[in-house]
Amino acid sequence: MDFQLLPEQKEIIDLVDNLGRKEFAPKAARWDQNHEYPWENAYLLRDLGLLGMTIPKEYGGQGRPLIDAVLATETAAKYCGATARILVETNMGALGCIMAYGTEEQRKVVAERILKDADKPAIGMTEPDAGTALTELKTRAEKKGNKYVLNGTKHWITGGGLAITNLIFARFIEDGKDLGIGGILVDKGTPGFTFGKVEQAMGLRGIPETELIFEDCEVPASNVVVHGDGNESFKNLMNGYNAQRVGASAVALGLAQGAHNLAVDWMLKRQTFGRLLAEYQGLQWMMADAEIKIECARLLIYRAACNARHLPNNVMLPHMKEASMAKAFGSHAMFEVVSESLQMFGAYGYSQDMPIERMLRDVRMFQIGGGTTQAQMNMIARAVFSRKFTYRQDPADTTKTGSK
Ligand SMILES: Cc1cc2nc3c(=O)[nH]c(=O)nc-3n(C[C@H](O)[C@H](O)[C@H](O)COP(=O)(O)OP(=O)(O)OC[C@H]3O[C@@H](n4cnc5c(N)ncnc54)[C@H](O)[C@@H]3O)c2cc1C
Repeated sequence: MDFQLLPEQKEIIDLVDNLGRKEFAPKAARWDQNHEYPWENAYLLRDLGLLGMTIPKEYGGQGRPLIDAVLATETAAKYCGATARILVETNMGALGCIMAYGTEEQRKVVAERILKDADKPAIGMTEPDAGTALTELKTRAEKKGNKYVLNGTKHWITGGGLAITNLIFARFIEDGKDLGIGGILVDKGTPGFTFGKVEQAMGLRGIPETELIFEDCEVPASNVVVHGDGNESFKNLMNGYNAQRVGASAVALGLAQGAHNLAVDWMLKRQTFGRLLAEYQGLQWMMADAEIKIECARLLIYRAACNARHLPNNVMLPHMKEASMAKAFGSHAMFEVVSESLQMFGAYGYSQDMPIERMLRDVRMFQIGGGTTQAQMNMIARAVFSRKFTYRQDPADTTKTGSK
């Protein structure tokens, strides 16, 4: 076992850190306040080969391991959470499902859109009545000849309205029969595919969360990524999505590290009663506690990323329990770290003049999006207890029937 970074991994971190200090940090408030997508940053990341760095070489990417994308994401998040999420979704998320299970043509097209146009694929799972209980989703993809006709509504879809590539989870219906949940690609601009409400979100406002509406939206059968096939197809889709949980945790980690660094600097400048804040033991212990939480989260996240095994087509799949532990612990503990960091600033930290109030709003998201903390705890508990006894069939237990 070796906890050292490789020289090329240090180079990635240095590259993104430099970019973060010079380009991301000065503009982070702008994307947040204007609800503006950080296209400038997306193009910079694309030009440096960081978007889609996990895409295999045969599709124009660098075929880098998941851990490298995690390191880039964590580093970017120290300066701008929204920008870091672009790295997650151009290296993990929908991309993982498409690269693992999609056709050769789909992989080629989606990879090219990311690498050339900085497209950030969207993944449409959640519906107004199906969030954690994702197996209750109602969107239908009904087969008509060599097409599928989609009807339904998704909400809270990250990048909805911007993304060209949209991977939509739907029930596959053939000859009136429900075959189960599968995934199908719907390109922006397809007739019958429109956008509804854009959420007024608490944080990460540089990327919109949007309602996707499908009304008799026809797509060719060649757009099917995973055909609905009972529980198996749903399991495959969720497996492909597992890396996203690790990436999301890396954003939370970077935000916490960034906030912690700001607090340390502040405490070495700010004085009360003629003493630096850094001299008070009570505050030192709060910072020591934060340091431990950051390192624990980092170890869980890096381990989940490093232990990722290969799905079809070399897509890296983290172990479900390891990914869930990284996300459950990481998102909660990193929220605490950012909150305690803000505390060091007193009223200054509560003002929009300081980046730390934005970081606190941003980091809160990771206990919800990409599967809530409770959903992760359910999955971890299942892994713990499934070895000891067989679960009773409980229709309300979404962890058994499948949840985020
Ligand atoms: C910023 C943001 C971005 C998002 N991006 C996307 C996206 O790109 N694509 C997408 O498809 N979705 C996205 N989502 C949606 C997100 O995945 C869902 O919000 C999440 O899965 C929870 O679903 P819900 O909001 O319907 O809550 P619910 O499922 O209604 O849950 C409500 C509460 O009950 C708890 N709960 C529910 N069931 C159980 C249970 N069985 N045991 C214990 N506790 C339980 C939950 O943990 C939660 O605290 C995003 C959400 C946010 C906030």
